[in-house]
Amino acid sequence: MDRVKYDQVTRTFFSCDSAEITAIFQEFLAAMQAEETLPPVHVMAQNYETAQANPEIHNLPGNLKDARDAVFPYFWGTDGWYSPLHLENVKGPANYASLVGALACLLKNPNLCTDTYSQRSNELEVKAVTALANLLFYHTVDPSGVFTMGGTVSNLYGAKVGLEKVAPGTMQRGLQGARVVGIVSEAAHFSNRTVAGWLGLGTDNLITIPTDGAVSMRLDVLEQRLQELYAAGTRVAFVTATFGTTDAFGVDDVAGIRGVIDAAAARAEVPPPQLHVDAAVGWVVCFLTEYRIDKNSLGFEPALLPLVRRAQRMAEGLRQADSITLDFHKMGWGHYPGSAFLVNRRDDLRYLARSVDETPYFSEADPRRDPALFTLECSRPAIGPYTVMASLNGIGLTGWQMLVARALELAETLKRRLEGLEHCKVLNLETTGPSVVWWVLPKGRNAKEIFQRVESGQLGSDKFERYRAEIRRLFEKREKAMDPKQDARLSFTNSIGYRPHGLDLPAWKAVIFNPLTDETVIDRLIFSIEELL
Ligand SMILES: *Cc1c(COP(=O)(O)O)cnc(C)c1O
Repeated sequence: MDRVKYDQVTRTFFSCDSAEITAIFQEFLAAMQAEETLPPVHVMAQNYETAQANPEIHNLPGNLKDARDAVFPYFWGTDGWYSPLHLENVKGPANYASLVGALACLLKNPNLCTDTYSQRSNELEVKAVTALANLLFYHTVDPSGVFTMGGTVSNLYGAKVGLEKVAPGTMQRGLQGARVVGIVSEAAHFSNRTVAGWLGLGTDNLITIPTDGAVSMRLDVLEQRLQELYAAGTRVAFVTATFGTTDAFGVDDVAGIRGVIDAAAARAEVPPPQLHVDAAVGWVVCFLTEYRIDKNSLGFEPALLPLVRRAQRMAEGLRQADSITLDFHKMGWGHYPGSAFLVNRRDDLRYLARSVDETPYFSEADPRRDPALFTLECSRPAIGPYTVMASLNGIGLTGWQMLVARALELAETLKRRLEGLEHCKVLNLETTGPSVVWWVLPKGRNAKEIFQRVESGQLGSDKFERYRAEIRRLFEKREKAMDPKQDARLSFTNSIGYRPHGLDLPAWKAVIFNPLTDETVIDRLIFSIEELL
């Protein structure tokens, strides 16, 4: 081998030239700042046509600028979601404390499989998980958990613990013909279906319970379904409550579900299902748990205080959960992936355990500290712990309280303004969160009255069809007329998760997820709706 050429490769790619790396990083930052001055539209169209046909690899070794050039067009053609006009969904801009954490993590590139490959980064995961568990479960005794690649996988962990609790040995022997089901509400995230499919329960065995007008699981129906299932000898592995549905921010009554499932399981003399809570979006309201409303030290507006109180009451239910999914990459404004699966009692992780015999190359592993002995993943990034601890301690508890309270306040303002328009109807007035879902009908229609007819069952699916079409048509009309420099970007959902008399309710949707979104964005949004005719 040509040693000179070899040395050049190692010098360029395996020794740190900090000046060159910083210079390239500054170029990326400059490009990003330039992007922030542009409206949130695609700055560069995709070129899927040849992405597959031309996956060229350079022949000769280059340098770090070649690395930059290899990705730059794709970087430039990607929206960093920094614009305050982005209201489409539960995606926000990443915060810069998280960036500091993420970069630190990338520089060391630890692998959280065992502490041999991650040392103190493994310890940071314990710290991050415990900090989050204290926030969510509140006074918890022996919590634990791990970071996963997303809310879907965190939900998978919850479901799997439940499966092993009610059908012990499934990990080794499989289901062996037993019918095992899981339960969620009709407004639950589709990831729960994914989980039921991938776990081998089958998506048909994910049972969905209708929600009430607050987009919260109906406990009377849950109780009835459990009774039927247990009477038929079916095992129920988990009930996954949703804490903040993705569209309407519906919150299931976790404490109420606890009462129902424990009583039903006791009557049937079977182990109770895992009470998992999918708080992927909703977990952030827990920052408000200890806010003293009487002192109001952050000077929240009077109209905001009842919302804070509602959020506090909602969060109390989480203390009854066995396990929780939380996405820091959603309203933690953290980088992907930053999802955590938390258990209230560390002992529950034993249901996932492998023995050291099953992990031959981790012969030194200790189940007290080495997650590879129970995680789904083997190699696991530390982005989550780094971004979480940097963000939590950079922003600080009161910083988080202001950020979360502000999102609730603006969402409430938008709800009130929309509800004040005769041809509009807000569909999630009873939920407290950053999302707003609503109908816009043609002027002259009484949207509230139409909604009431839907709820009372006077408007069947075929009669409702014309209104559904109008709501969609007006949404598209606004999209066409939009000025990307000042009009907020919204999205459209075909079903908000509350289905009165089995009817899927479509809606316009806005989520106040960017801390830079303000009243002027809302004023303009209302204006754009009034202008539609
Ligand atoms: C986003 C979301 C998920 C899925 O999380 P990912 O991190 O996208 O995998 C699950 N549940 C709810 C309620 C969500 O909003």
